[in-house]
Amino acid sequence: MNKSLKVLLASSEVVPFAKTGGLADVAGALPKALKKLGHDARIVLPKYKMIDDAKFGLKEIARIKVPLGEKEEEAVIKTAVVPGTDVKVYFIDNPSLYGRDALYQEKGVDYPDNHLRFAFFSRAVLEMMKALKWYPDVIHCNDWQTGLIPVYLKALYWADPLYQAVGTVITIHNIAYQGNFPREVIEEIGLAWDLFNSDKLEFWGNVSFLKGGLVYADVINTVSKTYAVEIQTTNEYGRGLEGLLTYRKKDLYGIVNGLDYEEWNPATDKFLPVNYNADSADKKKEVKKALLEENGLKQKDNFPLLGLISRLDDQKGFDILAEVMPQIAELDLQFVLLGTGDPKYHTLMENLKKKYPEKFAVNLKFDNALAHRIYAGSDLFLMPSRFEPCGLGQLISLKYGTIPVVRKTGGLADTIKDYNEDPDNGLPSREGQTEGQVLLDAVKRALKTYNDEKKWKPLVRRAMLQDWSWSKSAAEYVELYKISLGARQGVMA
Ligand code: ADP
Repeated sequence: MNKSLKVLLASSEVVPFAKTGGLADVAGALPKALKKLGHDARIVLPKYKMIDDAKFGLKEIARIKVPLGEKEEEAVIKTAVVPGTDVKVYFIDNPSLYGRDALYQEKGVDYPDNHLRFAFFSRAVLEMMKALKWYPDVIHCNDWQTGLIPVYLKALYWADPLYQAVGTVITIHNIAYQGNFPREVIEEIGLAWDLFNSDKLEFWGNVSFLKGGLVYADVINTVSKTYAVEIQTTNEYGRGLEGLLTYRKKDLYGIVNGLDYEEWNPATDKFLPVNYNADSADKKKEVKKALLEENGLKQKDNFPLLGLISRLDDQKGFDILAEVMPQIAELDLQFVLLGTGDPKYHTLMENLKKKYPEKFAVNLKFDNALAHRIYAGSDLFLMPSRFEPCGLGQLISLKYGTIPVVRKTGGLADTIKDYNEDPDNGLPSREGQTEGQVLLDAVKRALKTYNDEKKWKPLVRRAMLQDWSWSKSAAEYVELYKISLGARQGVMA
């Protein structure tokens, strides 16, 4: 019989409480899957202003003092459950740090005290365990915002046997976000200067929260096997951390994200005008019709609709797309975009919309309900990412019978097979090169398949019947947690 583990997942965003990207989806869904496997999985996140206490039934359970450098500040610990489940969630409340309009930044500018906000959070997570007298077997950290948890644990709590037994795993959801701050913050975040060296937290003259996590965590993983390899290779992929990751390669794993089918399922999706499943995929047409109308686009017979939902960021391949957009616009298709991000891509997209008003719909905003309708109402889903740790968009679109057109990188390479290489099993279309021409070619090939109903219908059905649920990935995480416990036992011996 497998031992039931106590797991505390620490994340700066968690669906449905606060979300800016895929991290939130993972943090909301993985603990549910762990619970189904019989483990005691709980979640901790900051209590941001947008989290409505009344709506989610938050209750105060403790007030703790959190030391940070010279100062000590209060954190209020609140608790609730992930709606519709029995997964316990802890919220670290401190209005002066988290009572703001956004998670990390406003109008493209990071909050100047982000180092304090997430150092405080990390330290509060460890202090909370004492107050609740609940010590997990493993703390599962995620990205730079929680990178200091393993650092504090080993640098400041090492003498306490209750903490010594706690293993740590850190997941890299995107290595481009590193939490790098000027060297002076080392004292503010309550760490000694001897941690400011190149073996520990120092990174090109700055303090790097992510690097700290990668040095101090017992086990490291990222969200696909291909990305785990890629980030050890070049600076472009590893963003300066490739050397450290190569050094820790025996502790570095890749586990592809699962998808929460309670959230993403066309058969039950409350945001759609019509629900459908693999046996009634023809109803997608009705969703498409409504989506075109909602987006002010004319109904055009036999024109596939390409959906794109993404942060407008260099990572996501918008430069590649921009290069061939004029040619793509000449093709018999329509295009709907949903995303926010880099102002230069806002302008680019708005210009395209002006130039091709019949073909392009551009929604420069964050809108979850519209995202659901685009996944369902589109025929093809575009992901030309330059790098992609895992990617959720391609997995969501598969479930909705919307065929992904992706670049062969990271998690996209691990989850999508090229239809033209393997028409019986593949899905169009992945490509191994970087430039626009390759993308254009992939779109053209997808169009050709779209116009051949005999091929298209089985392809859509096959996509919808794939299983990317969390159960398999959650079982892989359990194995990682066990490895982290083994690593801690090694330290103790
Ligand atoms: P990343 O985490 O790098 O942004 P992922 O593909 O892993 O990329 O996850 C992105 C998630 O955020 C998906 O669930 C996607 O649907 C959602 N998303 C991205 N942009 C928007 C937006 N503007 N409105 C609604 N949802 C969005």
